Amino acid sequence: MDKKVINDKFTEIFGEQAEATFFSPGRINLIGEHTDYNGGHVFPCAISLGTYGAARKREDNKLRFYSANFEDLGIIETSLDDLKYDKKDNWVNYAKGMIYFLKETGHDVDKGMDIFIEGNIPNGSGLSSSASLEMLIGVIAQELFNLDIDRVDLVKLGMETENKFIGVNSGIMDQFAVGMGKQNQAILLDTNTLEYSYAPVDMGNNVIVIMNTNKRRELADSKYNERRSECETAVGELQAKLDINTLGELDAQTFDEYAYLIEDENRLKRARHAVWENQRTMQAQAALEEGDLEKFGRLVNASHVSLEHDYEVTGIELDTLAHTAWKQEGVLGARMTGAGFGGCGIAIVDKDKVEAFKENVGKVYTEKIGYAPAFYIAEIADGTKVL
Ligand code: ADP
Ligand code: MG
Repeated sequence: MDKKVINDKFTEIFGEQAEATFFSPGRINLIGEHTDYNGGHVFPCAISLGTYGAARKREDNKLRFYSANFEDLGIIETSLDDLKYDKKDNWVNYAKGMIYFLKETGHDVDKGMDIFIEGNIPNGSGLSSSASLEMLIGVIAQELFNLDIDRVDLVKLGMETENKFIGVNSGIMDQFAVGMGKQNQAILLDTNTLEYSYAPVDMGNNVIVIMNTNKRRELADSKYNERRSECETAVGELQAKLDINTLGELDAQTFDEYAYLIEDENRLKRARHAVWENQRTMQAQAALEEGDLEKFGRLVNASHVSLEHDYEVTGIELDTLAHTAWKQEGVLGARMTGAGFGGCGIAIVDKDKVEAFKENVGKVYTEKIGYAPAFYIAEIADGTKVL
């Protein structure tokens, strides 16, 4: 979307000129799923689907918001004196949360704002439109008020908003990928230490296809919290013999030797996923660096298998997409991405085979599930920025 288009829309709604225009991406995770709250590695990248924004400072305390994606809600008005979660404020709670945590950490947001946003990430499909929105609001406030805030600290405030304001117990990955993304680079992030490095994503003659189940991931939030607590219980059992705080600290061998301490089969499977997925993520990054795309693809497949059978967060829609993708010509690997239970998957597909891939996978999926999936080619983009 063009900068001018966004600014014109701002003026149409608020009757004034915007001061600045912004873009905040969505994200996909190449590998390392459900490892971020388990102290493991993740390997996400920001994508060119995202959320655009235009904004101006006000002279009073009012905060006025308009999303072109929620036209029916019109302008939602609140104020700096009312930064509490309120159901009737709908999506604006994400913005209130960010501004609340900025102020709470001593950043001087001392005037109101008018903010227009418009996104092209399908909401609730696991491409992290919520983190995109949080980081967008954070960067808008940073720019308009000249706030001196480190980007990683802003990322942390995004996670706090999601955890404490919205009530979703997610890890740091989404906001980190959205806030720290770089064009054509993935980020290998150790969620235990927040050490990170960029890795060029050279897929050779292949592209990354995003496969949307078009199923809203309704179950995701409650199951997410359930998996999280299963893993915490498993850590508690392992602590009887091991000096660890998270599953991410264990290599596969050590985990296997001490797995007898875990007294429940489901917990054992959850923990095994967290440990092995973390190892796979580091191996996948190394394979990509060495240009061994075939190995990278196999590790991507292995991630899906583990999420399907050990972590049990896939469901028939994501399984149908991944399993069908595996059978297509020119596919190096495919897996679910994001929290699971619907949402999106990704597949690494030979450029020349993409059309046949979409047609075949689309047909099998539609016959089995009863409605069609959607496909997009992922372009790896910069993190949240001023345009
Ligand atoms: P996901 O992050 O996987 O896309 P979530 O359920 O976590 O799904 O976040 C989706 C919510 O984020 C939406 O219901 C809405 O409240 C908010 N949101 C995301 N993008 C926009 C947008 N462009 N305009 C308004 N609200 C948005
Ligand atoms: Mg979200």
